[in-house]
Order: sequence, then structure tokens, then C-alpha cells
Amino acid sequence: MSDVASWIRHGVEMRRPLLVKEALSLSDKVVIVGGGLSGMCCAYRIAQKSPHVEIVLVEKSERLGGVISTWSEGEWICDLAVNATRAHPAFWRLVEDLNLSKQFNPSQPRAKSRWVLLGEKRHRLSALSLFKIGPIRLLKAIIKARNGGASVAELLPHKQIADALTLGIVNNTSENVDADFLMPSMTQFGPPPPIKGSSLKKQIKATYPLFTPEKGAVASFDGGMESLVVALQSQLESLENVTVITGQTVESPQSIASEFEVPLESVLWTAPVVEKGRNLTHLSVFAVGFRDIDVADVRYGYGTLIPDASIPISGILHESDLHHSKRAPEGHRLFRIMVPHNRWDGDENLIRKSIERLLSHKEPALFRNLGIQTIPSYPPGYMQEISQKATDCNYLGWGMSGVSVTHVVDEAERVAELF
Ligand SMILES: Cc1cc2nc3c(=O)[nH]c(=O)nc-3n(C[C@H](O)[C@H](O)[C@H](O)COP(=O)(O)OP(=O)(O)OC[C@H]3O[C@@H](n4cnc5c(N)ncnc54)[C@H](O)[C@@H]3O)c2cc1C
Repeated sequence: MSDVASWIRHGVEMRRPLLVKEALSLSDKVVIVGGGLSGMCCAYRIAQKSPHVEIVLVEKSERLGGVISTWSEGEWICDLAVNATRAHPAFWRLVEDLNLSKQFNPSQPRAKSRWVLLGEKRHRLSALSLFKIGPIRLLKAIIKARNGGASVAELLPHKQIADALTLGIVNNTSENVDADFLMPSMTQFGPPPPIKGSSLKKQIKATYPLFTPEKGAVASFDGGMESLVVALQSQLESLENVTVITGQTVESPQSIASEFEVPLESVLWTAPVVEKGRNLTHLSVFAVGFRDIDVADVRYGYGTLIPDASIPISGILHESDLHHSKRAPEGHRLFRIMVPHNRWDGDENLIRKSIERLLSHKEPALFRNLGIQTIPSYPPGYMQEISQKATDCNYLGWGMSGVSVTHVVDEAERVAELF
């Protein structure tokens, strides 16, 4: 595929290193470790592209999907982790190939507003927020960050704006997050596109199947993200060259290579890599519902990010406002509340009190602690480090060079294209 064609297919994901060995494409048997979205997509895309390649997918838990999971109770529906995808043709292609187009819809255009809570005041976030930094200060910071290894706090020298951005994506504060990892286009990490950015964007836009997303819009499944896992699982079960093994914890790439008698280059490791010194962010996720009239004062929108660490809640997502389907019984609104453990001692009353202050004094119609989620950390210098590292096998998934589902889905296509 020509360079331009690859950039049109994959967009800025091309800036992220693909940590795979050249010899992978010569494999006639591939063993994939980890049955999250990354492992499932790699299995699906390679199996589709190369029916002669035997694929074994090994997952430690009894279910596939990894962190993707959707909770429901009656008409309340809430995702535990990712709830929507930002625009990327690779995700749209996956939805089309899995015949999920009827359940996949753009977010509500009215729900675009995002706020950041500073002191007692909610400020609307927009591209103009960056001007609060001052154009010259911002430009100087961007030029400096292009040397590589900077944190998001250095790239965007306005603590609250930078924190709001990183909290919304990795639930960490900006001084702890690698700018090359989160915003490779801005820091110019990785190879540059072969054509002008504006022309590339235009050409990418023309490739979306199903529907062309509006600028800044996201899209989601009516039944929650788990719909994607269910459809992928059913495809994998129907493919003759794929075997799925659940309930097996793999000790190392070496152990699985020797168990299945394949060279290390034929192992795809998509399970999170937890190395010494790499912190994880733990957070609890709450689903909170109110009667419409009890939250009539809460403006319709995407959600609010809260950098102030004295408040246990780091983000409130307006689930009912955002999605095409309301995810709540008639006359009600659902909110998803993110509670990082470095701000919270485990007392649910504290969450109730904060919700009273931030959303409504009225008793919620629903208050559920949906459990704990864990997000890898990507400290400053992370991207430089992993791209220079010599690895024993192939490493993919959000434990590596990208955090979002679009990255994981697109990366699987890039790997399959090597075969
Ligand atoms: C709270 C939260 C909110 C998120 N919000 C968004 C969002 O809004 N937008 C977005 O794009 N992305 C979001 N994400 C990120 C998105 O969910 C991930 O990018 C994606 O789901 C990662 O998939 P994965 O397969 O790489 O990893 P995982 O889902 O972590 O899967 C890894 C799999 O490996 C298995 N495994 C681990 N160790 C072993 C072993 N030793 N042997 C065998 N198997 C093993 C695990 O059980 C797991 O099934 C969010 C994530 C979280 C937690």
C-alpha cells in the first residue's frame, strides 16, 4: 500500500509505532494473548485477511472483552469503561463488517458542550480555551515539546486546562502524562504525513462507511459497548481458523510460544504490560440517575471534568444526553461518575454529598457503584522509550502505544495488512 494510501486508511495513528516483528507476517500459526478489544480485533482481522493462518486467542478470564463491559438494570444501561468512540474510519469499517450499523449511531448534536469545573464555576471547554494560555506562550511550549519527552503540562502551560484534558482521557493529571503519547500530531512525534494535513483530513473524511461523523461528534451503540464484543465473539466463533481459549493465564511470551510450538515472533501480546515503576490509575465508576425534573438545572451536554483533587469526583458524564438511546427509563437522566482512588477513601456517603453539590439536592432514583476500573499510566518520555525498546515478541493494545479504542481497532488493521 502506498504511503499516502496508508495515511488515508489510518490517519494520525501512523505516527504511533507498531511494535511488531517483521517475521510475524511469515507465521502460519499466531498465538494472541489477551481477549480484550485488541486481541479480538487482531484475531478477527488476521483471520479474515489470511484464512490459511491458524489463530489461537488465549484469555485469562472466563469472558472476552477485557475492560469493555456494559451494566444494565431494567431500562438503565451504563458502560463501565469506554462508552463511545471518537471518529475514525477503522472503527466505522469494523462496525460495518460486523453488521452492527443499525445499532451504531452518532451522539446527540446537542450534547457537544464539555465543561471544566474551576472553583465553583463551570467553564465551557473549546479550542478557544487554549487562548487562555496566551498564543505566544502556547506556541513556545509547543515548539519546546517537539524536542520530545515533554509532559502534557509542559505542552499546555495552563494547569486546569491541561488537567481537564488528561483527566478526560487517562484520568491522570497533566504532569504525569506524556505529550507525545496523547497528542502526537501536536508534538510532531513519529513520521510526518506525506501530504498536507488539510488535504489528508478531507480524503480521510471521504472514506467513512455508514455515515460521515460531524466535527467533534462521537458515536456509540444503543445497547452499550458490549454489543461490539458480542458481535466480535460470534464472528470469531464462526471462523474456522480461530480457536478461543478462556480461563488460561499466560505467564510470559516465552511460555506460550513453547506451549504452542511457535517462534516468539508469532506471539501477539495484547494483555496490559505492567512493568516496574509504571503506575496504574484505579477508579470506581458509579451510575447515578435522577428524575428529569430533579436535574432540570443541569445543562444538557457531554459532561464536566473536575481537576480539583479535593473533590472525590474527577468527571461527570451525561450518559442520557450523549447517546442516541436515552439509557434511562422515560422521564429520567443517567449520569456516570468517575472516582479516582487517589482522591477517595471508599466512603460512598462522600460521593452522595458531592453529587448533591454538583448535580441535585434531590434523592437520586438510581445510585450504583459499578466497580473498579484500572487505566495504565503513560509518563513523560513514554513514547520515546517504547519506540526505541528492543522487544522479544509483538506488543499491542492500550498497554502500548495508544489509549483509545480507535487506536486499538486501527492497530489491528495495520497488523493484518502485514500478512
Ligand atoms: C474507565 C475507562 C474509560 C474509558 N473510556 C474510553 C473512551 O471514552 N474512549 C476510548 O476510546 N477508550 C476508552 N477507554 C479505553 C478502552 O477501553 C481501551 O482502549 C480498550 O478497551 C483496550 O483494549 P485492550 O484489548 O487493549 O485491553 P484490555 O481490555 O485491558 O484487554 C486485555 C485482556 O488481556 C487479558 N489478560 C491480562 N493478562 C493476561 C494474561 N497473563 N494471560 C491471558 N490474558 C491476560 C485481560 O483479562 C483482558 O481481557 C476507557 C477505559 C477505561 C478503563
